[in-house]
Formats: sequence, structure tokens, C-alpha cells
Amino acid sequence: MTTPTHTVVCPECHRSFEVDAGMRETLLKAGCAVCGAPIVDADLTVE
Ligand SMILES: [Zn+2]
Repeated sequence: MTTPTHTVVCPECHRSFEVDAGMRETLLKAGCAVCGAPIVDADLTVE
């Protein structure tokens, strides 16, 4: 079984991150790891 990978693109700095479900939750709560901009569900895609 594989863990779904999510790609997050920050709306502010346009960095993309590949995250798993746990990291996704962290980004939604804490914001972008680079610039701190809020991350919303719309910034996430599931591969
Ligand atoms: Zn950012």
C-alpha cells in the first residue's frame, strides 16, 4: 500500500513541496515552510 503524495504549491513564493498526509496537515495549520504564507486546500493536489 502506498501513501498518497500531495504536491503543495505555495501561493506566495511558488515553491512546491511533495508531502504526505501528515505533512499536509502540518502545512495547512502552520503555513508555508519557506515564507509562512497560509496554505489552503486549493493549493494542494493529490498525485
Ligand atoms: Zn511560501
